[in-house]
Amino acid sequence: MAESDNVLHAQVLVVGAGPAGLAAARAAAAAGCDVLLLDAAPQAGGQIWRARQGVAAPPVADALARLAGARARVLVGARVAMVLPDATLLVDGPEGAFRLRWQRLVLATGARERLLPLPGWTLPGVFGAGGLQALVKGGWPIAGRRVLVAGTGPLLLAAAATLRAEGAQVVAVAEEAATPALARFAGALARHPRQAWQALRLGVALRGLRMMRGWRIAAIEGDAQVERVVLAGEGGRTRRLACDAVAAGWGLVPQTELAQALGCALAPRFGAAAIVVDGAQRSSVAGVFAAGECTGVAGVRAARLQGEIAGVTAAADLQGRASDLRLLTARLAREHDFAAAVAATFPMPRDWAGRLRDDTLVCRCEDVAWAAVREQPDLRAAKLATRCGMGHCQGRLCHDTLAAVMHWPRLPQRAPLSPAPLATLLAALDTPPDTPSHKETST
Ligand SMILES: Cc1cc2nc3c(=O)[nH]c(=O)nc-3n(C[C@H](O)[C@H](O)[C@H](O)COP(=O)(O)OP(=O)(O)OC[C@H]3O[C@@H](n4cnc5c(N)ncnc54)[C@H](O)[C@@H]3O)c2cc1C
Repeated sequence: MAESDNVLHAQVLVVGAGPAGLAAARAAAAAGCDVLLLDAAPQAGGQIWRARQGVAAPPVADALARLAGARARVLVGARVAMVLPDATLLVDGPEGAFRLRWQRLVLATGARERLLPLPGWTLPGVFGAGGLQALVKGGWPIAGRRVLVAGTGPLLLAAAATLRAEGAQVVAVAEEAATPALARFAGALARHPRQAWQALRLGVALRGLRMMRGWRIAAIEGDAQVERVVLAGEGGRTRRLACDAVAAGWGLVPQTELAQALGCALAPRFGAAAIVVDGAQRSSVAGVFAAGECTGVAGVRAARLQGEIAGVTAAADLQGRASDLRLLTARLAREHDFAAAVAATFPMPRDWAGRLRDDTLVCRCEDVAWAAVREQPDLRAAKLATRCGMGHCQGRLCHDTLAAVMHWPRLPQRAPLSPAPLATLLAALDTPPDTPSHKETST
C-alpha cells in the first residue's frame, strides 16, 4: 500500500469491517494482495460482533490476528464521506480527512434496523431493538428496568436474550407475525439445522418469557418518558403493559448510500432495496464488489460467505486468474433460501399509514408530523416543503419509511453520505497529486 500527500492507495480496499468485510479482507490478503480495511466504528466487528465494553469478539480477534500477518492494514474510526469526481473516496478519519484510491473495491457496509414512527415513539425510553442491544453491550446499565420488546423479526429475540442476560426485566416480546405464519417458518427451520440449533439456543435463553404472537404496538404512552404500551391484537383486542423502555424493530434495511454514490444498481431483495450483485459478488460498476447485508439481509453466515467470495474474486481479477467459487456459492444458496423464508414470515407491515395519527412525528430530527407530509406528491416535495429528512440522520429513518409507506421513489444519493466536519468537506476541494484514478490503475 503506497501513501502520498494524504492519499492512501490499496490494491483491494474494503469498506466495512463487519463479518463480510473481515472475510473479504482475509481472502484477498491470503491471496497476496495488499489490502486496506476501513470502518467508521471505533472497533472492527460490525453489528453482530460488536466489542463488549472494548473487548473484541473472538472471531474479530482471530480475523485481525490473521490480517496482522499479511499485507493488510486496518483503519477504524474512519468513515467514507464522499465519492469524489476522480473516483477517489474522501474519508473522515480520526486525524482528519484523507483520500483513498483503489484497484478493486469491496463494499461491506451492512444494514441498519428499521424503526417505524408510531404514536409516542419519540418519548424518552423508546429504542431500536438492535440499538438498545448495542448500548447494553457497550456497558449501558439496563439491570432491573422493565423492557417491552416489540415489532417483527428474529432480531427481536436476539435483543431480548441480550437484555435479559444483562439483568433487564423483559416484560414481553410482542411479535407481529401471527401463529400460522410462525408455524410455516418452523417448517423452513427444519430444512436448516444450523439455524434450528440457533433458534433452540435462543429458546432456552428466553425460557419463561411472555411471548405474544400476532400483537403489534398501537401506541406508546407516558408523560415525561415511557410508562406503558398499548398493544393491538387480532379481532380488535387490546392490552396495556407497563414498562420503562421499549425496544422496537421491524427488520433491517441494507445500507446502500455509498453504493448509490458510486452508481451501483439497486433492486429489492429479501424485502428491501439492496445492491445488485452477480454470483461472484460483482456490482454493476466495474471493479466494485459488494458483500454482506448491503446486498440483502441474509444473516451473518451469508455475510461471511459473500465476503470470502468477493475477496477471492477481487484478488483473482487483479492477478489475472480464474477462481473456483462452486463450494462457496452452493453454501450461500442455502443461506439465501433461509433468508427468503425470514423475509416472507416477517415482512414490513404494509398498513403502516393507518397506524399513524396526524400529530405523529415522522421525521424526528426536524419534528415533522405525518399530517404535513402525507398530502405531498413525492419525497422531494415533502423534503422541500417540510424539511423532512434534512436533519442529522439525513432521511435514513424517515425517507426509508415514507418510500415504503407511500410507495415514493427514493431520492438520488447526495454528498456527503453522512454529516461530516467542515474541514473534511473542504478537503474535497483540494487538488490531489496527479495520480491516475482507480479505473486507470486497474489491472
Ligand atoms: C443494530 C443491529 C443489531 C444486530 N444484532 C444482531 C444479533 O444480535 N444477532 C444476529 O444474528 N444478527 C444481528 N444483526 C444482523 C447482523 O448485522 C448481520 O447478520 C451481520 O453483522 C452482517 O454483517 P455485515 O458485515 O454485512 O454488516 P455489519 O456487521 O453491519 O458491518 C458493516 C460495517 O460497515 C461499516 N460502515 C458502513 N458504512 C460505512 C462508511 N461509509 N464508512 C466506513 N464504514 C462504514 C459499519 O460501521 C459496520 O461496522 C444486527 C443488525 C443490526 C443492524
